[in-house]
Amino acid sequence: MLITYNETNKPVYSIKYFHPFFSVESKLMDDILHKILNAKEQRQRIRQQSGEVGNATISISFNIPGYPKSDERITQTFRVVRDDLAHYLVALRIPVDKKQVIVRCDEAGDIAFFPFQAKQQELPLFKEKLEAFEQTHPLGRLLDVDLFDGKANAISSHKQKTCFICKETPALHCMRNQTHSYEELRAHLREKMEKFLEERAEQQVSKQLAATALWAILTEVALPHKPGLVSPQSSGSHQDMNFHTFLASTSAITPHFQRVAIRGYQWNGKEPQAVLTQLRISGLEMEKDMFLTTQGVNTQKGVIFLMTFSLFTMAYTLKKTGTFDETVFKETLQTLNKGLVNRELKGSSNQNRSHGEQCFNTFGEELAGGIRKEVEQGLPTFFHEVTPFMKKIGFSSTDYRDQSHFENQCKRLLVKIMSINNDTNILFRSDAQTLHLLQEKSLKTLQGNEDLTKNESYGELMAFCTTKKISPGGSADLLAVSLFLDNVRTKTQKNTF
Ligand SMILES: [Zn+2]
Repeated sequence: MLITYNETNKPVYSIKYFHPFFSVESKLMDDILHKILNAKEQRQRIRQQSGEVGNATISISFNIPGYPKSDERITQTFRVVRDDLAHYLVALRIPVDKKQVIVRCDEAGDIAFFPFQAKQQELPLFKEKLEAFEQTHPLGRLLDVDLFDGKANAISSHKQKTCFICKETPALHCMRNQTHSYEELRAHLREKMEKFLEERAEQQVSKQLAATALWAILTEVALPHKPGLVSPQSSGSHQDMNFHTFLASTSAITPHFQRVAIRGYQWNGKEPQAVLTQLRISGLEMEKDMFLTTQGVNTQKGVIFLMTFSLFTMAYTLKKTGTFDETVFKETLQTLNKGLVNRELKGSSNQNRSHGEQCFNTFGEELAGGIRKEVEQGLPTFFHEVTPFMKKIGFSSTDYRDQSHFENQCKRLLVKIMSINNDTNILFRSDAQTLHLLQEKSLKTLQGNEDLTKNESYGELMAFCTTKKISPGGSADLLAVSLFLDNVRTKTQKNTF
């Protein structure tokens, strides 16, 4: 059943268009028709009331063939499109008073009214702009964006709408000739809406993940007074980089994050080997951009590796389960990296061995499995060590209103990680004994004052790193990834992601 409005805005009811209801009992059909017409009349009254206080009205609704005109999924889609239009109106400086916007779902479907003050002579121009919205929106052909003047008369551009299946044919032509069956129209509509929602979700999730990854990296590097590490106040034990080198390289690698997340979101869970190759390429591109920016200084190879896998796996998990399902996340990470330590570290004959490979040869798997072992096992440091510790100290990655408290909490996490992590950055610059001493000093710090500025052992830990010229960069990377994971976890639990 379709009701159309002709150019004078009088509804045109024709039994010819009622075919979608033929499957419905005639009495029921009458009822439904009656309800729809009632809803349409109420809508017209809303426009009239808006006109009585001198407003013109823009309304947006879906052009849904058949009945029912709405359901949960249609309303969900409508909400997104309605927000798109609201942004568009603000961008056009059309002065809509938000408080006066009316949103409803009646028997005729979902609709929103945007009343606004306008002079009559401005309306044709607004109409043109609204048509541009319809034409450029991905669901444009399914939309009716209408403009009514202060007397509730429709402003028409006299352009004919095209059919959303045939695209070039006027919609009226297909309707009159019943070119498309009710089922075909509804199926087409569903498909379009699902695709639209899917694309929006992909954009939204990947954008938020990329932003969270950047936040986590910046939060780690911005923490003041860390043992051996670069901070805004100090270059720690580093000679070749400072805080600004980190800002520059972080800026260089960040544009890759969203693409990695999109790849994870789109992954069908098959052929992990092909995925691994793709991720390695992304990682190499990031490293190239990092080295270009830092003029050859390795600031973030570790975090690039960990964050690439975390972003990809998180996007995949969110798509698959709708939340941060920790089992799916861990298993996916393990599947992707199965045998990584064996393949990349054991018996490596690579002439240009990485720090990780060199450490592995010198210290063996137990001590120097590094970040490869960490991802192969599904980030056990985060799930088995950091997470319980976060609970114990009441850490919140989303509450940073009290800056010094938040920074102190982050540094306690760092010290926790340092106390258990076999950091290959330390091994590479020194030896196993130094690593064990560092772990012991970290453990002692955790047993001391919670406020690290009053914790003597923390001071000793800082001095130890300076004297030994070591920097726990691997632990800092794990802190950044832990912040990322916890932040996503908290936001998904609170439904704010
Ligand atoms: Zn058609």
